[in-house]
Amino acid sequence: MPATLDCPRCRTRLPAQAAFCPHCGADVTGIAHLPPPPPAARRASGGISGRRIVLFLFALIVLLFGTLSVLLYALHKPAVLPPPPRDPNRPMFSR
Ligand SMILES: [Zn+2]
Repeated sequence: MPATLDCPRCRTRLPAQAAFCPHCGADVTGIAHLPPPPPAARRASGGISGRRIVLFLFALIVLLFGTLSVLLYALHKPAVLPPPPRDPNRPMFSR
């Protein structure tokens, strides 16, 4: 248990046994008895961080190559002309 705690309202450093913040008057009796956050979650995410970075880099490379290939394909393929606009005077189905 730390000897001090921070006021949740004004972040003033208070003694752990303080009931009220002398700065803003906030009730700090509740937070003084809060249990510390469990370190399990932080430990678990830290354990696979290395693998996550590798996965992230792999995904980045795949994405990069995919974008590059699409870009190259778009640059090298013959220009496709858009379909000519239909003549509004012409009937849709010519007999
Ligand atoms: Zn305060």
